[in-house]
Amino acid sequence: MLKKGDKLYSILHFNCPRCHEGKLFKSGLSYRFSKITQMHSHCSHCNLKFEKEPGFFYGAMYVSYGLTVALWITVAVAFYVLSEKINPWLFMLTGSLLLIILLPGIYRLSRAIWIAMFVNYEKGKEIKDD
Ligand SMILES: [Zn+2]
Repeated sequence: MLKKGDKLYSILHFNCPRCHEGKLFKSGLSYRFSKITQMHSHCSHCNLKFEKEPGFFYGAMYVSYGLTVALWITVAVAFYVLSEKINPWLFMLTGSLLLIILLPGIYRLSRAIWIAMFVNYEKGKEIKDD
């Protein structure tokens, strides 16, 4: 079971990687593009500045690419296991639909993973010092 202090806890809950309390995003998961992308500038709990430098989250594109490749490999393995003869059109349609459905989650997960790679958990971090 995940608990505060685990990197995976902050990533999967989309919480601040330093205090694991404040939320990274302003709203819950949604398919409205304007809401998917809205992040808090600072943590509401420990005041960590999320965008450490201009363009910081461009690096999340590398994470997003990795997650997307993992999704396509999963679809390919599932097709291979379920039938020996793979219909390429059905494969492309399934993969594309899954990608569209999971897009908000992949976007946010990429940013949560990216910031968690650079910020470590600090127990009891409540001082507003950043
Ligand atoms: Zn915080």
